[in-house]
Amino acid sequence: MYEGIAASGGIGIGTICVIAEHKLSYDTHKVSDIESEQKRFEEAISRFKEDTSAMAEDVKKRIGPKEAAILEGHLIMISDPAMSGEMGKKIAEGQCAEAAVEDVCNMYIDMFLGMDDELMKLRASDVADIKDSLLKLLLGIEEVDISKVPQGTILVAKDLTPSQTSKIVKENVAGIITEIGGKTSHSAILARALELPAVLSVPGATTLVKDGDTAIVDGSEGKVYVNPDEDTLSGYRTKREDYIRKQAELKNYLGKETVTADGVSLELFCNIGTPKDAKKAVECDGEGIGLFRTEFLFMDNDHMPTEEEQFAAYKEAAVTLGGKPVIIRTLDIGGDKAIPYLNMKKEDNPFLGYRAVRYCLGNRDSYMIQLRAIVRASAFGKVKIMVPLVTCVEEMRAVKEMVETIKADLDSEGVAYDKDIEVGCMMETAAASLIADILAKEADFFSIGTNDLTQYTMSVDRGNSDVAYLYSTFQPAVLRSIKHIIECGRNAGIPVGMCGEAAADPLMIPLLISFGLTEFSVNPALVLGARCVISKWSKAEADSLADKVMTLETEGEIQILLKEYEK
Ligand code: PEP
Ligand code: MG
Repeated sequence: MYEGIAASGGIGIGTICVIAEHKLSYDTHKVSDIESEQKRFEEAISRFKEDTSAMAEDVKKRIGPKEAAILEGHLIMISDPAMSGEMGKKIAEGQCAEAAVEDVCNMYIDMFLGMDDELMKLRASDVADIKDSLLKLLLGIEEVDISKVPQGTILVAKDLTPSQTSKIVKENVAGIITEIGGKTSHSAILARALELPAVLSVPGATTLVKDGDTAIVDGSEGKVYVNPDEDTLSGYRTKREDYIRKQAELKNYLGKETVTADGVSLELFCNIGTPKDAKKAVECDGEGIGLFRTEFLFMDNDHMPTEEEQFAAYKEAAVTLGGKPVIIRTLDIGGDKAIPYLNMKKEDNPFLGYRAVRYCLGNRDSYMIQLRAIVRASAFGKVKIMVPLVTCVEEMRAVKEMVETIKADLDSEGVAYDKDIEVGCMMETAAASLIADILAKEADFFSIGTNDLTQYTMSVDRGNSDVAYLYSTFQPAVLRSIKHIIECGRNAGIPVGMCGEAAADPLMIPLLISFGLTEFSVNPALVLGARCVISKWSKAEADSLADKVMTLETEGEIQILLKEYEK
């Protein structure tokens, strides 16, 4: 049995498929048999064309023509005699096929990057993709297509990037195991959204298993069994049935109000990444959207989404929610989320770097486009704006000023929008917590992002397994910070919600009820579980538990006490 971080609940039993990371290295050598090298190169080119057109067809059917166009663009490029002809010429001069491909592609990449036109710059990442694919073909490296794995597959990888995770076909994947990543890494969040059991940070996972092994992924306990004996297997089959039955029982909370045992009504919202998820949030009985992570709109694209594209997405979410609140968080890239076409600089400390509102305020033209699209969407529902990673009040003021300019522009253009659109502040940095009283005067609402608040309070990278033992929302420092933020918000008369993963944690919920949190925003799949836990606690009971918890000095003691009282 191997242990890791329990990142997404449930039990998966299935067959291992390892997503290997490959080094594309080769010996640069002079070729003597030029004819057979040319043949090897031509075979790779025709295989590339076949694979790419099959993939484009599949993407067109499964996702859409816009997404398929990227792959079709690759086909056009490689079919251009200038590119493949140049490669052929280098081979004729005695270069090996790998070096010819690499040299010519690098030349195109440099050329595109050197152009002023943003669209042309984007071509550089297309050429980089073509280069990787051709080198893999020449080196005989078979890539696993995540979107095509058979039913009952357990994916094992060093790490799954958000874009890899988004290729997963939920029906075919039984579980996920990775070597790195934590409970709040973005791949974990996506795994929970897909309701797939996931155990992350299993040291050496990709070398402990091989394709075809049978494995159990216990995403609730963070355990992995490889080729288990019959007793373990049948024990886990029963556990899996229990888990599924419990999930079914939660259906009793569908359509019910979110209310504590003593009748205090609370709001239970959902976190989403795309407008399509908004539908899921409604089906799962979410009472609003507490966090729309707009960066996925940017990441799943080959270009910066235009104002119209963004407007359509935000409007779709607003309309789907039919007048219930939709809190749209402005772009939060940087950290562990990169967008290739933005060509962001590689940073030594990405989580402390050019991320979220810092990037947006440094790139105001594109930020204006996003804010304008959100403000326009406010004509179609109860849309609110939320600013991520705030550390000082100037950032809130700058965003609000931009929103005011947009409102004035829309007024003069006669375009409709909600004149009372709110601008809220994400409370997810130690700095924001310390100046919560100041920020509360500037923000229409607070939403606590515990995933980052824990990271920045404890000074632990949220995805680093070596320091994961410190990454806990139950650390006294983090609990004090949460309590303080809620108090400051309440004192200023603004609502305080939480959209970090802790909002759905059954151990955390009584503390949040006691501190006075009024809005809980969780993964759609966790709405009914959170509603069930909330219904079991009265304010008085929660207060008495919170009083005890806040006197304790260690995270360990706090967890023990909370587990003792868990309902
Ligand atoms: C958070 O930090 O708690 C949060 C909700 O934002 P993200 O996980 O997207 O950083
Ligand atoms: Mg965050």
